[in-house]
Formats: sequence, structure tokens, C-alpha cells
Amino acid sequence: MTALLEVEDVHVHFGGVRALDGVSMQVEEGELLGIIGPNGSGKSTLVGVITRLTDPTSGELRFRGRSYASTPAHRVNSLGIARTYQSVRLLPDLTVVENVLIGAAVTAVSRPAVVNWLRLRSRGEQGRLRAVAEEVLERVGMTSSSKAYPGELPYGLQRRVEIARALASKPALLLLDEPTAGMNQAERREIGDLLLELKADGLTQILIEHDLAMKHRICSSAIALDFGHLIASGTPREVVEDPRVREAYLGK
Ligand code: ADP
Ligand code: MG
Repeated sequence: MTALLEVEDVHVHFGGVRALDGVSMQVEEGELLGIIGPNGSGKSTLVGVITRLTDPTSGELRFRGRSYASTPAHRVNSLGIARTYQSVRLLPDLTVVENVLIGAAVTAVSRPAVVNWLRLRSRGEQGRLRAVAEEVLERVGMTSSSKAYPGELPYGLQRRVEIARALASKPALLLLDEPTAGMNQAERREIGDLLLELKADGLTQILIEHDLAMKHRICSSAIALDFGHLIASGTPREVVEDPRVREAYLGK
């Protein structure tokens, strides 16, 4: 069986910095794969490469067996790949439902001028996008906040809106870069529960997460990076107990 995602011998060099130095990995359909590694080890760069926002210096990417290494970033969404970012990137002047609606629209438009673009859509199309946005907000349990502005919501809920926005393009693969950063224990647990529910719905996910307890609870597999190298892969427990991973975290 072909893996959903295949990353083969990817290198990313920023000048003299080897952010990724020959990383190969695969993600099977239905998996929830965790990526761990110290700060600066290349986790966000790997997510950037998979979503085509970062050009690899060399290497191959395949989704459902097809190379997409030269697909432009704005087309990646229509392949079925979506992501959230390490920091909140909601548009403050748009309501929650409008922010999510943009996620539903990005399969159709790549320009950042989405608001203007939206105004030019027919009523029918706007209605269709709004229906998708409302469905996704319901999925993440946020229907009651749909008319609020992001700044009116607690931080944990803002991050949840970002997940909704990514889901609005109906991806087969969702990449989450530290979705629980800055959250308290209760908020973390809730996000973990949400990701498990999405997994039960059949969504394949790649998660960068520092909280090892959460990782053990929800991930089906894991990889560890250190200085741009993949140093371990397996079950979350195997990866965390790997001597090279322990060494990387102890900074030896
Ligand atoms: P992580 O997410 O694991 O903390 P990153 O992938 O963000 O790590 O960064 C990996 C390395 O690449 C770091 O040394 C970082 O400073 C460097 N790096 C990341 N992005 C850039 C960039 N756009 N330009 C130059 N160096 C970068
Ligand atoms: Mg990062």
C-alpha cells in the first residue's frame, strides 16, 4: 500500500544552516504522527516543506504516490493538505465565521486579497462557503462564537478557530505546528480530544507538540529530529526512550 505522504531525502539549506539534512519519512492514511525535537531542530521547516511554503534544496515529495515537489504552495490545499501555524494568524477585522470561510475559499483563490475576492462572489457561492464554515465550526464545538471577533476570544479558542479554518478546505492531511503552545492544561486536553475526534473521522495528521504526555495519549507514531537529521522513528514511547533522543534533549 502506498503511504499517503512520502518525504524522500529532503535537504533545506538556508545559507550555511542545514535546517534539514537528508530527512526521509512516510505517513500512512489515518495516522496521527508526532514530531519532536529540540528548538531549531527543523520541525517547522519540515512542515513548511510538506506544505510547499519552503522550497527544498533537494529531495522528493509524494502525496498519494504522486510527486508534488514542484506544485506551488497555493495549490497544495487543493491536493488535500492544510496546516496551522506556530503563532495565531487570524485576521482581526473579520469575524470567526469569516476567518473560517477564508479557509474554505483558499482552494479556489490564492491571493491574500480574499476579502475583496469574497465580495465579488455570487450569492450562491458565498452561501456555499458560509455553509462549509458553519459546518466546520460546529465540528470543533464553536458555533456559539461564530459572530465574535478573534480578539474577543480566549487564546485557546483562537487556536481552535485556526484548526477550523484549516479544516474548511476539507483536507486529507492536516499539519499542526505546536497547536497547544501557550495553553493551560485544560485547554491542552481539549485540543488533544479534538485531534483524537478528527482522527476517528479518518483525518491523517502531523503534529508538532512539546507536551510528551499529550503525545503519548494521542499520537499513533512519532519521529524525532535533531540538527536537521531524523534520529528516531516508531511508537511515541519508542521514540521518547531512544538514547539518541534523550541525548538530544539533554543537549550533550
Ligand atoms: P524548529 O521548528 O524545530 O524549532 P526550525 O525548522 O524553525 O526549527 O529551524 C531550523 C533551523 O533553520 C534553525 O537553525 C533556524 O534558525 C533555521 N531557519 C529556519 N527558517 C529559516 C529561514 N527562513 N532563514 C534562515 N534560517 C532559518
Ligand atoms: Mg518550530
